[in-house]
Parts: sequence; structure tokens; C-alpha cells
Amino acid sequence: HKKSQKFPTKHFCGATSPRDKQQKNSKGSSDFCVKNIKQAEFGRREIEIAEQEMPALMALRKRAQGEKPLAGAKIVGCTHITAQTAVLMETLGALGAQCRWAACNIYSTLNEVAAALAESGFPVFAWKGESEDDFWWCIDRCVNVEGWQPNMILDDGGDLTHWIYKKYPNMFKKIKGIVEESVTGVHRLYQLSKAGKLCVPAMNVNDSVTKQKFDNLYCCRESILDGLKRTTDMMFGGKQVVVCGYGEVGKGCCAALKAMGSIVYVTEIDPICALQACMDGFRLVKLNEVIRQVDIVITCTGNKNVVTREHLDRMKNSCIVCNMGHSNTEIDVASLRTPELTWERVRSQVDHVIWPDGKRIVLLAEGRLLNLSCSTVPTFVLSITATTQALALIELYNAPEGRYKQDVYLLPKKMDEYVASLHLPTFDAHLTELTDEQAKYLGLNKNGPFKPNYYRCPQPVILVLPTLCSHLSAPQPLLPSWCHPASAAILVSPSLCSWCSPTSAAILVSPSLCCHPGVTQPLLPCWCPPACAPGAPQPLLPSWCHPASAPGAPQPLLLVPSQPLLPSQYPFSLCSWCSPACAPIPVSS
Ligand code: NAD
Repeated sequence: HKKSQKFPTKHFCGATSPRDKQQKNSKGSSDFCVKNIKQAEFGRREIEIAEQEMPALMALRKRAQGEKPLAGAKIVGCTHITAQTAVLMETLGALGAQCRWAACNIYSTLNEVAAALAESGFPVFAWKGESEDDFWWCIDRCVNVEGWQPNMILDDGGDLTHWIYKKYPNMFKKIKGIVEESVTGVHRLYQLSKAGKLCVPAMNVNDSVTKQKFDNLYCCRESILDGLKRTTDMMFGGKQVVVCGYGEVGKGCCAALKAMGSIVYVTEIDPICALQACMDGFRLVKLNEVIRQVDIVITCTGNKNVVTREHLDRMKNSCIVCNMGHSNTEIDVASLRTPELTWERVRSQVDHVIWPDGKRIVLLAEGRLLNLSCSTVPTFVLSITATTQALALIELYNAPEGRYKQDVYLLPKKMDEYVASLHLPTFDAHLTELTDEQAKYLGLNKNGPFKPNYYRCPQPVILVLPTLCSHLSAPQPLLPSWCHPASAAILVSPSLCSWCSPTSAAILVSPSLCCHPGVTQPLLPCWCPPACAPGAPQPLLPSWCHPASAPGAPQPLLLVPSQPLLPSQYPFSLCSWCSPACAPIPVSS
């Protein structure tokens, strides 16, 4: 979305750009750049509303009255700047951190919230409607500061990380870690890791269960209709919609549209998600098959060029086109910037693109993510993500030397469960406790973790520490080999489906399942893990997961009690965690 535009929209209609304004907050500081500092009071009220729906962050703040786990942390952040992010930033401040912040999207900044943050002393560089140049300028103002160097990064989309790599690589000497929120940013981190260029540990917040199952799914389920309504006033009942991608975001969009009576089609590349779409009652189609008839096209793939100029040419008159994925590469908007097409701005964030024969399509937010550009998103859902981000920062900042290497890590399951438990009281929810007998039967600790660490982790190759805790530097076997002693050293190629394709030959499997790890492995032409071979002895679930979860095995010490922990009982960092099952898990490409 930062690609230079041939025909840029004039965002400020002749008004002075914030970059050219001299502004000071009431304490005399001018270390910020926002649209209008005078909107601070209004923004403060927005932040106060958000605080009411972010119980876990408020609990961490209470805790911070006694302890400052982020004292000395200098966090540079690049996220959407909304009231919810403001609550996160102010919580990080309360926990002892200094922060500097830029926006990760040129349209999503709430100007009044940015003003409120600047007024309360946060160096914020962001406004709604930045140009591409502004975007990078704002990021640069956050990192290129005399006498201040960041030691932590909180990124959403990877642009900040990319900028530091490109412009200030030496900064990484002082940086203790990166916390990344989005699918796109995480993907970039894996690429760096794969190329051996990742020089600090990184936490993949996106794949935390609490982030993925809630933020992506529920956030989009609750905001897609809002974004479409506000921009187009359309009625959904009976309209034909095609949703590209049936991941978490796609599932949320489809559920909301179906509930409104729309006829929903889905496109997918992944047979598993495709099957889910079918079983949820959606017609799985190729985009070409429905492109002429649909009223709305929504992309949610995280991919590029999913909707091409050819598709756009074939759409019917008045078709609405929008994107819910992270960046504007999903719809080939650049291909619409040609002389024969006329662009007409009809509302803020709404363009009519008109063909020579008079056909027009309605393009929302110029292909940038719709809900964050054109509507609000539910605060409670964002509270879950923000709490996960805060805990990830605390953990990376406080981790002892050597715990985290230059790799990409998932937050331990315990932490995920803790984030969820902190939000349960809002619903007066009553959690069922396992009996001793049930716990033994399932091979679980009564107090969690209740799922294996890889549960709902979409990354195809997962590196797991063999005997968590004690051998952090030992060579790591790969999933699922760590599960069952008999199946040691199974290297599974990234796409398990690879057994059907010649390009995916690289499946190294232990010779005869159990007995000779270390012996040169034959490549199995078509069976992925040996456990899938016909007649192969199958490991027992769930005991194959982790030695600690084998029936009868001594259980790790408890961290999350059945009732949510009081803020003061929660150990801020894993340092104080005692159980091997809580140790961090690196996830490589
Ligand atoms: P996901 O990986 O779960 O889902 C993406 C799906 O798209 C996958 O199932 C994939 O197989 C499919 N896909 C990829 N290329 C495709 C193609 N060419 N045609 C059809 N399907 C294709 O990811 P997700 O969590 O659903 O996130 C999707 C995007 O949305 C990401 O860019 C993410 O950053 C963004 N996101 C947006 C919001 C929001 O509020 N709008 C919230 C979270 C995430």
C-alpha cells in the first residue's frame, strides 16, 4: 500500500500538511506530529471509552503500581493508531516503558486519539491520510532520534522492522526483540529467519490462539458489515457476495454476511479451508465463475493480485470491491490507474472507477483494509490482542540471556490461556474444572495448559524444543517427532500435502519409524510422516505430545489456577515460571 501512485488522491485539499505545522502540547513539547493537537480532549474521551472494554490491560496497569517490568524499555511501535492502541501504549508507559509511535496504515489513524497521546507526552507521528512519503517520514521520526535508541520493536505488518533493517541495521545491536502482530509481518519475519538474517528474537503474536481465534475472526465478523454500511448504505439481504480466502478473516466475513441473508460464495486455494467453507454451507467457486454476477467482492487472503484487472473489467455495474487483508496488494488497484478509466471520489474512502462504456465499480478505501479504514472495530477483541502484545514485550524484555535465540517464537500456551482467563470475568463466565480422574484420563494437568503448544498453529513446519526447559540449546527435532519417543527425527516438509507434488519431495522421514533415528533417511515419494503410512504404528494421542503430558507422567507445576489470577499473582515474565511446559517454542519458516 505504500507503492507510489501514478494519480495520487489529494488528501488535504490544499490544507497544510501536519509536517509543515508547528505544534506544541501543553507542556511545551513539540516531539510529535499529528493533524491537530487541539483535538486532544476529544481524543482523551475516546480513550476513556476504550478503557472500559479493555479489562486485562487495566488489570496490568493496576499491577504496575507495584512493579515496573518494562522499566528501561524503549519501545518503538508501528500499529494502527486507535483508541485501543492508545490504551495499550499508555499501559506500556505505566509498566515503565518509553514509547515512540507511528501508524502502520496511512488511513487508519484516529487524529483526535493521536492528539491525545501527543498531549500526554507520547511522541506520536501519524495522521489520517498520510502520503507514501509521509508514511516513511513518520516511521523515521520514531527511530532516528538523537539521544534515544529503541531496544524493543512492536510492529504490525513489518514495515517498521523493514525500515530499521534497511536504514539503521546497527540498531539491532541494542534491540532485545520484535513483537509482530500481523500475518503479513510474521511472514516477513519467517523469510528473514529462513535467510539467516533475523538478528534478534521475535514473537509471533499473530499465531497466538488468543490473537487468531479472536482478533481475526470475531473482529472481522463484527466490523465487515459496519465498514460496508458506512461507505455504501447498502442492504445485504439477497445480495451475492464473493469472499476470497476462507481463513480466520474470511470465516468472520462470511458468517456476518450469511446472517444478513446474503448469498455467499467463497474462493480458496487450500483444500482444508475450502472443505470448511463447503461444510459451513458456502459455495466454493473460482473467482472467474461468479465475477460477472456478484454485487460485492471481498478479499481476505493476505496474498497479492487476487483480484486482477481482468476480474475488474468483467465485474457488473455498481459492483463493490473491498479488501479485509492487511495490505492493498490483494486487489490490483494500480491496474486501474490507466487513462481510459475515470476516478471519481464520491465520499471519503469511496471511489467510483468508471469505464468508457459507463460501467462503474465502487472501490472502498482504495483497496486498503476496509474495517480499519472505514469503520470501528470491537474494543474487547482488540483488548485480547493488546494484552498478548504487552505480555510478549514483557517476556522478551525480561528473558534471561540465551532463552530466546535469533528465531521466531510463539507465546507459550500458558500465556494464551492466561490472557483468555483475564477476560472471562467480563462475561461472568464459569469455567468447568477437570476432576483428578478426568485430568489423568486426558493426560492433562488440571490447571493447564489444556492444549498442546502447536494447537491451532497454522505454520506448517514447527520446531519444538525436545525436552523443554532443560536443553534449550540441544538440536531440535521437528513436530511431530517430539511427541513420541518412537518417532524421533521426523522432518516434515512445509506442505504436508507435498507428498503429491514433485516439488515437495523434501520429506525426510526416519527410516523405519521408530528405531534408527540418525540413519540416512530415504525420501518417501508419497507418504508424508511415516505415521501416515498404511499400517504404521500410530502414536497415542494425547500422550505423544509432550513427555509431561503422558498419562501418569509427573505434571509440571501450575501457573494458571482454575480461577483467573489476580493481577498481583501473575508472574510478569516467564523467568519466574517453573514448568518445562511453559518454555518458549521457536517456530521457523
Ligand atoms: P489466514 O491465513 O487464516 O487466511 C487466508 C486464507 O486465504 C488462507 O486460507 C489461504 O489459503 C487463502 N488464500 C491465499 N491465497 C488465496 C487466493 N489467491 N485465493 C483464494 N484464497 C487464498 O489469514 P487470516 O488470519 O484470515 O488473515 C488474512 C489477512 O487479513 C491477512 O493479511 C491479515 O493480516 C489480515 N487481517 C485483517 C484483519 C482486519 O481487521 N481486517 C484482522 C486480522 C488479520
